[in-house]
Amino acid sequence: MTQHVTVLYGDLDRILITGQEIKDAVERLGAQITRDYQGKSPVMICILKGAVVFFSDLIRSIDLPVSLDFMAISSYGSSTKTSGVVRILKDLDHDVAGRDVIVVEDIVDSGLTLSYITSLLDQRAARSVKIATLLDKPERRRTPLVVDYCCFTIPNEFVVGYGLDYNEKYRNLPDVGVLSPRMYSE
Ligand code: 5GP
Repeated sequence: MTQHVTVLYGDLDRILITGQEIKDAVERLGAQITRDYQGKSPVMICILKGAVVFFSDLIRSIDLPVSLDFMAISSYGSSTKTSGVVRILKDLDHDVAGRDVIVVEDIVDSGLTLSYITSLLDQRAARSVKIATLLDKPERRRTPLVVDYCCFTIPNEFVVGYGLDYNEKYRNLPDVGVLSPRMYSE
């Protein structure tokens, strides 16, 4: 456990992935993307806000001339369940037509959010669209979705930390942990 944000750890059932494990996995993923995109300059798209911590570490482990863009979306539904209906709160600043795009997400759950985003980028004529996610919960998939890059496959539990929140809290935890169910049943 990382010691400097101890106040939030009391709300967790357990730590699932330590900051050090995340660091190692993100470095491996950055090296793989660097190999796969040799000679290319992909646009890395951060899905705000959950992916922001993963994104900032991942881009620094990629040795390519990447450019960055940001998209904020909200999915209707409660904070622990996705409805699949997606609203764009902040769109990209740049045109992706003809570009190789890597969408960076914190977690793929039902897959509905990323299905929506990837089809939007296809409609905008991106040359290629790939998905990089920190976490994947394949048990919960409700739509076929190819996840191209994934750091960790996790069980069907609600997790927080390293960018992932519950009611905007816990994003600054350096590890990923399972939130104690008492925190959202209260
Ligand atoms: P999907 O459309 O794949 O069901 O939903 C993905 C989004 O749901 C994620 O970007 C995230 O905001 C939210 N989400 C799904 N599972 C979890 C989880 O275990 N923890 C947190 N904090 N958010 C989750």
